[in-house]
Order: sequence, then structure tokens, then C-alpha cells
Amino acid sequence: IATPPAGDVHFNDISFTYPHTGITALRHFSLHVKAGEKVAIIGRTGSGKSTLAHMLLRMYDTTEGALELDGHNVNRYDLDILRGGIAYAPQEAYLFSDTILNNIRFGRASATEAEVKEAARMADLDKDIAGFQQGYETVVGERGVMLSGGQKQRMVLARALLKKSNILLLDECLSAVDTQTEKTILNNLGTYLQGKTVLVITHRIFTSWAFDKIIILDNGNIAEQGTHDEL
Ligand code: ATP
Ligand code: MG
Repeated sequence: IATPPAGDVHFNDISFTYPHTGITALRHFSLHVKAGEKVAIIGRTGSGKSTLAHMLLRMYDTTEGALELDGHNVNRYDLDILRGGIAYAPQEAYLFSDTILNNIRFGRASATEAEVKEAARMADLDKDIAGFQQGYETVVGERGVMLSGGQKQRMVLARALLKKSNILLLDECLSAVDTQTEKTILNNLGTYLQGKTVLVITHRIFTSWAFDKIIILDNGNIAEQGTHDEL
């Protein structure tokens, strides 16, 4: 399939064991996220949250059960189309020893400078960047050593936002920012998120955001689910 998914994501009875280690990370996991829905996935360390992201991006092949996007098995998508269709902010951020501009632009090489700056603004990074003598031309150092943990996370978020894909997948991407900054970012994202499918993996639930659904993952399966009020 050569067109990016519109945003319907269906994990259908997926069990997954990592090759080499034999660790079973998902056990009969099922979740249907309709296009445009916003879902939070919460769970203790090791409960399988990032594994869901790995499945979606086809970093590993599903062995049991099926993962469907817009009703098509994930394996039928061209890999570059699939990954291009998912704006992913990984838990382990990777930054290059290059400028801030190029690091953000890594999400979409063709993006204009204005688009990069808009992504940085949404990630609440513009003031930080303005504080650097070289601004967007600042070289962040090996793996981003000259940035704070929260700045690195917001860089990775800006990189993901630049992709403008129908699916936004955030893995623990705001754990190092304070709640006020988190609020600012979620406010900034308002219109950007309209119509997008959003999957947020997090230890700490974003208090200022109304998710359509909250999933609590335990040992590779859903322990509880509901809305913010129900849980
Ligand atoms: P955290 O909150 O700490 O990020 P998580 O919920 O994201 O945890 P996962 O990363 O999905 O948890 O890990 C689920 C299980 O799979 C764990 O037992 C982990 O050790 C194992 N695991 C994760 N990644 C791999 C891998 N690449 N190879 C082998 N086992 C892995
Ligand atoms: Mg994880």
C-alpha cells in the first residue's frame, strides 16, 4: 500500500515475544483507535507501552494477532509510507551533533525554515532557542549534550510535529518538562491536533487534556480502560 494511513489503528489480539530475549511484552492486546481519536496509554515500567509503538512502526513483525491500519494489515504498507505516515517521538531521543535547525528538520528534510520554527513554537522551544547566541544555528553537541533533558524532549517533539502525519505517536515525550510547560504545549497543539489520531504513552497523565480514552496497561494487557472521570 503506497498511501499513508488516514488514522484508524486496530491492535487485534496481539501477543508479542521479543526475539533473542524471549521476553513476552504483549499478551492478547486489543485496542481499536478510530481516526481522529486521542488515546493515552499508561502503565508501569516494563508493561509493554513502547512495544506497542514498536509494533506500529514495524520495528518488529507481529507474530500473533493482527495490527491493522485503515483496515489493512500493517505488513501490507510500504515501510517508508508507513513510517512517513506516523509522527513518532520516541522515548529514547536521538539528536545529532548538528544545528538545532537541522535536528528538527530531520523529521522532514523538505520543510522550510518557517515550518521548522512553527514546530519549535508549538513545542515551546522558541524561547529557549532565542536565548542561544547562535539561535537555530546552535550546534547541540554529541547526542545533544548541551541541551537540558526537557529541551531534548521538546526538540524530538518538534521534529515529530514537523511531519504533519495523520497519526501522532508520543512515547514519554514530556516526562522531563514541568506541568506548566506541558500545559503550554498542549494549548499550542490545539488546532494542529484536529482530526489527527493521537497515541500518547505516559507515566503521568496530562491533566489538562481530555483524552477520548485512557488505557492502563499491565503485563502486556489492558488492566483498565475508561475516560479520565471514570478512572
Ligand atoms: P517503560 O515505562 O520503562 O518505558 P514500557 O512499558 O515501555 O516501559 P516496554 O519497553 O514495552 O515497556 O518493555 C516491555 C517488556 O519487553 C520488558 O520486559 C522489556 O524488558 C522487554 N523489551 C523491551 N524492548 C525490548 C527489546 N528490544 N528486546 C528485548 N526485550 C525488550
Ligand atoms: Mg517505554
